[in-house]
Amino acid sequence: MTEVHETGAAAACETRRACLTALLDGELPPHDATEVWAHLAECPACRRAWEELAAVRDLAAQWTMGDTPDLWPAVQAQIEPEPWETVMAELRQLRAETQALWGEVAQLRRELAARPTPPEASSRLLFPNGPAAPAGRRLV
Ligand SMILES: [Zn+2]
Repeated sequence: MTEVHETGAAAACETRRACLTALLDGELPPHDATEVWAHLAECPACRRAWEELAAVRDLAAQWTMGDTPDLWPAVQAQIEPEPWETVMAELRQLRAETQALWGEVAQLRRELAARPTPPEASSRLLFPNGPAAPAGRRLV
């Protein structure tokens, strides 16, 4: 008889303890919450389990609150870049180099245009063994 009672009590405790997390989260229906609170008031073992659960919850809340360092940049640096990202980075680099080259070409054209050299002399300078440039026509 005692064994049956203890088994029944253990089953009652097991049922109530399965509800503790829901009770802590405020997700237990009011009638069930009232029943679990009543059991906690008279069962030291379940009350101890409830207090431990609440303590763990409080500790976890402290860990997740407050200023935490932004770990994403470090994680992102460890992640292998996507192939398209690598291609896009190369394209951006090529575009920058091309723009720099066009700038240099434009500068060289301005310098050549600013030279007071006659077209014929310029042609002879660039192509000493070639034919003379037609009169009045500049090479650049
Ligand atoms: Zn109990």
